[in-house]
Amino acid sequence: MKTVIRLKYLVMALAIGLLATPATAQKKLNVVTTLTDLQQITEQIGGDKVEVISIATGYQNPHFVDPKPSHILKLAKADLFISTGLDLTNGWAPSLLASSRNSKIQAGSPGFVDTSIGVPLLNVPSSVSREQGDIHVFGNPHYWLDPAIGHIIAQNIYNGLIKLQPANQAYFAANLKTFNETLDTKMAGWKAKMKPFNGTKIVAYHDQWPYFETAFGLDIVAFLEPKPGIPPSPAQLAKVMDTMSKDGISVIVMSPYEKADAANLVARKVGGSVLTLATSVGAFKEVKTYFDVFDYNVNLIVAAFQKASH
Ligand SMILES: [Zn+2]
Repeated sequence: MKTVIRLKYLVMALAIGLLATPATAQKKLNVVTTLTDLQQITEQIGGDKVEVISIATGYQNPHFVDPKPSHILKLAKADLFISTGLDLTNGWAPSLLASSRNSKIQAGSPGFVDTSIGVPLLNVPSSVSREQGDIHVFGNPHYWLDPAIGHIIAQNIYNGLIKLQPANQAYFAANLKTFNETLDTKMAGWKAKMKPFNGTKIVAYHDQWPYFETAFGLDIVAFLEPKPGIPPSPAQLAKVMDTMSKDGISVIVMSPYEKADAANLVARKVGGSVLTLATSVGAFKEVKTYFDVFDYNVNLIVAAFQKASH
């Protein structure tokens, strides 16, 4: 009899204990992103309600990431998967997602966010062809390099977060507002710095800057890659050198993960300079936030243009 009563009290105590768990102790959302930029924006909006990791590092070519078993393990435990969509990471993300066997984060599930929804895409081919190389088939996927599109990315991430944690909507909304306001203030500063160089012609290694070009009034006239993802060829480099000499172009922009040889060779021949820009958060040690990407790039470009004009 005594044992039965004790058991009854134990059951009651357990039930009360469970009910008394405060809502604030809700488990953090496990988020996996393809890119560090998406990770960083998710951290800004999700705050202390999320734990976010990125599969690609900020100094890696997002088109070509080696899938590892550790990535699959992370995806298997994820509540939310956030990717850029389009074909940026098609070489590796879909197979990792399938291997994770996590039904919560597959395309179409509430735990799947495609941040390209609503993004005004550039360079969309009139038909799906391989004309733009093999990796930009649906339009240019490097859209996070226009800070204005950061607003759309953040909104998509916010929509994903509130779907999974509606109780925290006010918290996420406040963070989104702060993010948007900070971005607008900073954007005005970046545009002011770039304004004197409006229309300046430059050359890029890979066709990943059309959004940056549009945002800041640059004019990218040639690429070292003959087509996106196809390495620079001697014929292409000769063509680029010719264009640079003829138009008096002095700047070539590239990414930390691209081989500098071709860019350096061209720059040497035409007396120009090579700028290795940040293409993502974490590209360089000091590029810690989405805002830092543009602080870093704008400062580097402005310094190079100023030097060239003297
Ligand atoms: Zn690309």
